[in-house]
Amino acid sequence: MKTKINLPDDRIPKQWYNIIPDMPAPLAPVIHPGSLEPVSPNDLLPLFPPQLIEQEVSSKRWIDIPDEVREILSLWRPSPLFRAKRLEKELKTPAKIYYKYEGVSPAGSHKPNTAVPQAYYNKIYGTKRIASETGAGQWGSSIALACQFFGLECTVYMVKISFVQKPYRKSMMQLWGAEVVPSPSNRTKAGQAILDKDPESHGSLGIAISEAVEDAYSREDTRYSLGSVLNHVCLHQTIIGLEAKEQMQIAGAYPDIVIGCHGGGSNFAGLAFPFVSDMANGKAMRIIAAEPVSCPTLSKGAYEFDYGDTAKMAPIARMYTLGHDFMPPGIHAGGLRYHGAAPLVSQLVQAGIVEAKALGQLECFEAAIQFSRSEGIIPAPESSHAIRAAIDEAILAREEGQEKTILFNLSGHGHVDMAAYDAFFAGELNNYEYPEDAIKSSLSRLPNVKIS
Ligand SMILES: *Cc1c(COP(=O)(O)O)cnc(C)c1O
Repeated sequence: MKTKINLPDDRIPKQWYNIIPDMPAPLAPVIHPGSLEPVSPNDLLPLFPPQLIEQEVSSKRWIDIPDEVREILSLWRPSPLFRAKRLEKELKTPAKIYYKYEGVSPAGSHKPNTAVPQAYYNKIYGTKRIASETGAGQWGSSIALACQFFGLECTVYMVKISFVQKPYRKSMMQLWGAEVVPSPSNRTKAGQAILDKDPESHGSLGIAISEAVEDAYSREDTRYSLGSVLNHVCLHQTIIGLEAKEQMQIAGAYPDIVIGCHGGGSNFAGLAFPFVSDMANGKAMRIIAAEPVSCPTLSKGAYEFDYGDTAKMAPIARMYTLGHDFMPPGIHAGGLRYHGAAPLVSQLVQAGIVEAKALGQLECFEAAIQFSRSEGIIPAPESSHAIRAAIDEAILAREEGQEKTILFNLSGHGHVDMAAYDAFFAGELNNYEYPEDAIKSSLSRLPNVKIS
């Protein structure tokens, strides 16, 4: 019984899996934030190169991965699949636990899997500069790295509270050549408007997105880049699940339960979508998206049309949302604090194909520490939600005496997030309650989109 299953470089998938043609129903249109009418591909050209817009709506099931992209991905891919034998033993569970480890990328998470193709398509289209945003810094460091590989300039609007609290991610972005601007900033009208109201604003991901989108709209040489949520991002991440399927096959196993943590949906989609396609073909399986109680988009949000950002500049999509101006509590899993969710994942939750599970911050840190002490790897606070869900399922399997096979995505390591662990050990972390009133309030301000 192997501890880890590695694939050689030439087994990096040659195509991404596009789930759009296999969705249970047609996708809802994307809506223009100004006209409240469906967007045309041309409306998106100031933001994205045409190749990415095409992928956003493509009905082709398999899409070729360019050789230049595969070559860069080969710096860390294929990523390893581990059998968590020591954790199984500690849990005294008959369940087999496997995890795909995305922390082996230079940025320490799954995010470069999409940053690299996004930078590539921008480069061949003639884009000179990328504007983007980052919360805790994982996306910012990934897009900075990818822009560096392709010789693009990169400006990252970083949520101010993280800019102050997480200086090492800022250092990583700068090391890889990016300019980092704390958001809200006075560089954009959206940022200035927030600062006028509250000069001390800590910022939010929604505000930072507004700034990056405005920056991209205002310069011909600049395009915008988003690290999660969008269909093309989920597409690029399917490389995780495609590799995992092959590795599970080598291990002689197939999952009964597939688990990913869920912020905007990309690492979850990346692992899960290739398995959802097997489910559509008759495989019985449970697929679980694990999210924080304090930002419970999939489990407590509304499945409605909403803006992607706070300032209502980004396109409107039908998704689970807590409302575009919802301000989540300051949990340490910064990457899970987005008000919305990938429309593709949302539709699968709505259809009952994917289950959503909301977990408290403390129980997730406890799971992360138990995992580190048996498996060694220190997980990112985001990934700890997937670990909690996996451990809970393994304990349930023990109680029910069932030999389940569990596969989860370990989306990244926590080396740049040690302050979060310090806070946990100092007893400074609390379990935020489900912010019911704040969510009710922000959900009363959704756009009034009427689709015939
Ligand atoms: C950003 C991030 C997430 C959350 O984003 P998704 O798009 O939901 O995957 C999860 N884990 C890690 C390590 C991240 O960096």
